[in-house]
Formats: sequence, structure tokens, C-alpha cells
Amino acid sequence: MKLANYIGGQLVEPESRGYFDDFDPATGEQCAQVPDSDERDVAKAVEAAKEAFGGWSRTPAAQRSHVLIRLADLIEEHLDELARLESIDTGKPLSVARNVDIPRAVANFRFFATAILHTRSESHQTDGTAINLTLRAPRGVAGLISPWNLPLYLFSWKVAPALATGNTAVGKPSELAPMTAHRLAELSIEAGLPPGVLNIVHGYGEKAGAAIVSHPDVPTISFTGGTDTGAGIARTAGPMFKRLALECGGKNPTIIFADADLDEALPTSVRAAFSNQGEICLCGSRLLVQRPIYDRFVEAFVERTMKLRVGDPLDEHSDLGALISPEHLAKVESYVELARQEGGTILCGGGPPPAESLGERCRGGAFMEPVVVTGLGAHCRTNQEEIFGPVATIMPFDDRQEAIELANATPYGLSASLWTSDLQQAHGVAEQLQSGTVWVNCWLLRDLRVPFGGMKQSGVGREGGEEALRFFTEPKNVCIKLKD
Ligand code: NAD
Repeated sequence: MKLANYIGGQLVEPESRGYFDDFDPATGEQCAQVPDSDERDVAKAVEAAKEAFGGWSRTPAAQRSHVLIRLADLIEEHLDELARLESIDTGKPLSVARNVDIPRAVANFRFFATAILHTRSESHQTDGTAINLTLRAPRGVAGLISPWNLPLYLFSWKVAPALATGNTAVGKPSELAPMTAHRLAELSIEAGLPPGVLNIVHGYGEKAGAAIVSHPDVPTISFTGGTDTGAGIARTAGPMFKRLALECGGKNPTIIFADADLDEALPTSVRAAFSNQGEICLCGSRLLVQRPIYDRFVEAFVERTMKLRVGDPLDEHSDLGALISPEHLAKVESYVELARQEGGTILCGGGPPPAESLGERCRGGAFMEPVVVTGLGAHCRTNQEEIFGPVATIMPFDDRQEAIELANATPYGLSASLWTSDLQQAHGVAEQLQSGTVWVNCWLLRDLRVPFGGMKQSGVGREGGEEALRFFTEPKNVCIKLKD
């Protein structure tokens, strides 16, 4: 598949005429050629987006909604094809792409396309002397930069609210998983999205991504990716007074109290640790288990983990597929080695799965069996740094206060999952967790209306629901004095 940039409604070659290879991490084979775009392509895309802004921002909401719903329908019609591309591009199980990634992309477009039909801006009277109105207008060209782990799902999480609210956009998907964004461009043309409303520039972050961030005519940047990248983007965008949403890394705790319903807590915490090979920012990679059930829990957790099938992502029976690249696999392996050096006990996993589980096709792939580590303290690097792979640690705690302290003892604050049958305990702990989302007796139960984002080094700002509609619009107060 030879990918193209999508600029001004056309699929075009990069200015450099250069391409780089995109690999299927399950087989090591090339699956696409990606435009190696630079600041010239970004400049053209921004020009196209600026030109389209006047018309699109004045298009009635019902009409914008109609086109975006048409796009959602087209994604849904191509669900199987898109899921397969996503699986090939990332190594994730086809079942995950089919049941999670692509349906969520459809839902994102439908949600924001209909949200704009039902929102109102605020107004109130000031002590009988004035009426205050809040006008909300789209901000112009939005720069949308997304990661590889949930490619179309997270790209659409930005594109949908940006366009629905009347902005135009220049998006850059991850260079490691750009295939479904290319198809999104083609489907946008088919849906009748006016030229220039959405532009997609492929390429490397330091080149194409950085050119979007530093472009003076892109006042809004929505980024999802690693914390270090986010910090670099903030350094550029901050002095330019851009509006920024940074959705960054996580090191999320799963807290299991002794009174938890283990029939639910156990399978869900295994899923939370290892879904999508542990490559979800919301994965619960640090399990904290109350001492009376600790030994029993660890034994059952390891038993379940060892039953997970790591194999060909296209095989319906695989629970875990390949990691995104051999380089990322090497990084995750180095963390397993670090856990060992830090005094941890590796209870299972860490190596490649047996050759027969992979078959001939996937012999050269970036696979790893899921790892469970015990015996580490909360402050070692293994428990502080985001690994973003199938590695989970388990630590014991004695009481509620200790659970809260351990849960909060990282620089991150994205999400937490908390298991107890004591409602008061759930409320008390949830309130004290430094975390953008707290799931009680569940994990990844998502409602698109809630604010989504992280505290501390997990990011700045919130996306989702009303928060996204506000992020992509500029509020203006109009104060009208009433007659005396
Ligand atoms: P990354 O930071 O390497 O890349 C993310 C995107 O930024 C890519 O499109 C990349 O090309 C681009 N980029 C890289 N350097 C850039 C630069 N200097 N200027 C502009 N853009 C640049 O992240 P990744 O490896 O693709 O994704 C994994 C990370 O994403 C993990 O840390 C994970 O936790 C995080 N993540 C966070 C969320 C969330 O909602 N908080 C969701 C998914 C993933």
C-alpha cells in the first residue's frame, strides 16, 4: 500500500517525493510506504485548511453533522477491512481491532456529529443590570497529532470534535501505524467532506509533527503520545500562546481490597494489564493487593496470565498479538531485565511464545509472553516508568492509607481502577487518587460524555464530551447592559 498525503481534498505525493517503509510487526514484512513529509507539505496543508475555514465554520451545524455521520457510516461499512489494516499495522489481535478500535472510531464521529445539534452556550442575568452571553466560535486550524497504539480510534477522537465544532484541521497520524488514516482520507472524499476541511500529512514526528506544532497559523494543538514528546511540544507551543491538550503516558494502579469480588476483579485486572499487549495508556500495570488476599490473588493472577494465548494477530484465538516493533520489544525486554536487577521475581513470561503458537507466518515477529513481577518496591524504576508493554507488577498493602500512597507514588496520573464492595471506601479512596479517571469495580468502561485526560505528567487539559467541544471553541463574553 503506497500512502498519500491528503491536502485540499486531493491525495498527493510528499514534496520531497520520498517515502519510508512501514512494517507489519507480526511478520517483519513491509506493509506500506509512507510519505516522508516535511514543513513544505505542512505549509500546504495549513494553507488548504485556512482556505476552507471560512466556509466550513459558517456551514450550519446540521450540515456539518450530516457529512460527519456519512463518514461514520462509511467507516462502519468498511469495518472488516479497516480492522484488518489496523491489525497488520500494529500487531494487535484482529478481534481487538474489530471489536474495539474501529467501532470506537465510528462512535467518535457519531457522538460529536450529534453533540453539536444539542449543545447550547451559556447566558445569565447579572443582578437585573445586564445579560451576559457566551458566544463560542471555532478557533481556526487545529493541529491533531496521534500515537500508534489505537490509531484510527485516537485520531478520530480528535478529528471528530475539531471538525464538528467548525474548525478545519491538519492531522498527523503515527508514522508507525498510518494505514487507517490513509483510508480515512479516502472515505472523507467519498463522504463529501469539502476540500481542505481535513488534511492529513504523514511522516515522522520530528519533521512533519514539529512543523505542525510550530506553524504560526495553527492556534490549537491536540496531542496524544509520550510524556517526553508532549513536554517538547509544550516548549514550542507555550511561548506561541497556542491552546494545548496533551494526553500523555500513564502508570496506572489497579487497587484490590480484600473485600473485592474476586470473580470480577481477577479477570478484569488481567485484561486491564495485558489488553492490546499492554499498549494502552490506560492499562493497569501496577497492581496493589491488600495483604490478606495477596498470596491467593498472585497465584490466581499468574495462572490466568499464563493461559493467555500470544499468537498470530489474524488468528481469532489470539489474546495478545505482536508489539509495535522490534525496537519496542527490545525496550520492553530491557525493562524485564531491569525488574530482575532491581530485585524483582519474574513469575511468568518475558520470552517469545513457543514457535508452534506463532506458525510459519509470524516467526519473525515482535512477540512476548506477558510478564508478572513481584517483590519490587514502589519507587524503583520498574514501578515508576511507563513500560507500555505486557509487564505488570504486584505489590501488597495493609490499609486504605497505604493503598492511596502507593497508587499516587508515580509522576503519572492518568487512570486508576479500584475494587471493593464497600461503597464508602470506594468514595473515600476515589476522592484521594491523583488520577484523571477512577474506575470502581470495572476498567475501561467508557462513556464519551465524561472528561478524559490526566493529572501530573499524564497531561494537560481534557478531551471528551463537553470538554472537547469547549477545547475546540473560543468563548467570548458579550455583556449587554439592561435599561435602568
Ligand atoms: P510518541 O510521543 O512517540 O508519538 C506520538 C505522536 O507524536 C506521533 O504521531 C509522532 O510522530 C508525533 N511526534 C513525535 N515527535 C514529535 C515532535 N517533536 N513534534 C510533534 N509531533 C511529534 O508516542 P507513541 O510512541 O506514538 O505512543 C505511545 C505513547 O502514547 C505512550 O506514552 C502512551 O501512554 C501514550 N498514549 C496516551 C494516551 C492518552 O490518552 N493519554 C493514549 C494513547 C497513548
